[in-house]
Amino acid sequence: MKTLEQIASELAGYDPQALSADMVNSFLARLVEPVTGTEQVGIFEALGRVLARDVISPISVPPHDNSAMDGYAFDGAQLTTDAPLSLKVIGTALAGKAWAGQLRPGECVKIMTGAIMPAGLDTVVPQELTTLAGDQITIPPNVLQAGDNRRHLGEDLMQGQPALHTGELLGPAALGLLASLGLCSVTVLRRLKVAYFSTGDEILSLGEPPREGAVYDSNRYTVFGLLTRLGCQVIDMGVVPDQPQALEGAFVQAALQADAIITSGGVSVGEADYTKAMMKQLGDVAFWKIAMRPGRPMAVGRILNPKPTILFGLPGNPVAVMVTFLAFVRPALLQMMGCTRGAPPLLKAKSLEAIRKKPGRTEFQRGMVSTAPDGPLQVKTTGNQGSGVLSSMVQANGLIVLHHGQGNVAAGDEVDVMMFEGVI
Ligand code: AMP
Ligand code: MG
Repeated sequence: MKTLEQIASELAGYDPQALSADMVNSFLARLVEPVTGTEQVGIFEALGRVLARDVISPISVPPHDNSAMDGYAFDGAQLTTDAPLSLKVIGTALAGKAWAGQLRPGECVKIMTGAIMPAGLDTVVPQELTTLAGDQITIPPNVLQAGDNRRHLGEDLMQGQPALHTGELLGPAALGLLASLGLCSVTVLRRLKVAYFSTGDEILSLGEPPREGAVYDSNRYTVFGLLTRLGCQVIDMGVVPDQPQALEGAFVQAALQADAIITSGGVSVGEADYTKAMMKQLGDVAFWKIAMRPGRPMAVGRILNPKPTILFGLPGNPVAVMVTFLAFVRPALLQMMGCTRGAPPLLKAKSLEAIRKKPGRTEFQRGMVSTAPDGPLQVKTTGNQGSGVLSSMVQANGLIVLHHGQGNVAAGDEVDVMMFEGVI
């Protein structure tokens, strides 16, 4: 376990007062470690979990050579390029019901998709390429090659080979793959436990009557949604008032129960509350100014008492919470979950409007990505980009990522977009 000071010393140009988004990710990648506990779960519970060890194929898939088409199986050596081939149909091979006879030259077997290829046969002619007269089929020349339409034993997975690797985040395709191997359970890493709470004396919990100067807590609900989509076990610790004892109690309880703690609010420069003071008192925490918009202030480190627990102290503004989560917290949590899959790629879209952008910071704009009539992706911002405006976040299906060095965007320029689908 490295201290923040050790990590900082490894990063050339580290300046907590002016961190680039890339530096934040490099820092966090050095700070967090994957969980180690494992458990055996049934296939239905495996969705969204991370594989703890390689799955070796106990069988080959498919378990035998079989037909890829409905048609007629025969020995492809009989095909010539200059003359039609006539064959006599002498039997039928059905899926699940093999045909066990022997064929002589000039003979074929009617075969269904998935049926085992009869011994010695290597080619299937699809039914629609043939003409049938009585028990004779005719295949015209040059429509087929020897070996066509045969699926080979083990062409998907070979017995004894790794089918899935440690660190795989199990999605629907992986569940199907496990089932194709006849496996009904799998060993996964334990779920990551993440506790979260909101801070600030002006923050109202749902159910409380409105009060002058106060706003309802929205961050706990976006954080709940983001963590749940990620497959974390969530521990909701409510709104914690800005009092030293209440904050200390919340951090201690959170650290006891969770692998990571996410707070929102109270980490801005010049913040006159106790959140920062308590983070400092209980842990090894850095207070950063990140060259980004929205989401400049962020606290990161570990609460050390009563046990080391990763801390992400997010800013208070609702959109800043979501953006810092997506840009920094999400990749770090995936690493803690043991997931080895990299971040989804950014896509390129044509900006439908000019966007003002200062070089020297990363900016995230809420955008609606669509397909242009002529094919490529296009993107339009979704209105008010204020860091507290959630309605434009709801209208968006992705974030336009304007990179650190990038300047103004002209209408028609290509920009990078991070899609929400598949991410949250
Ligand atoms: P702070 O970072 O604590 O200065 O908060 C920045 C802004 O975000 C302020 O306008 C806060 O009222 C608002 N804010 C902080 N926490 C929340 C929350 N949980 N839900 C909604 N707004 C919040
Ligand atoms: Mg505050």
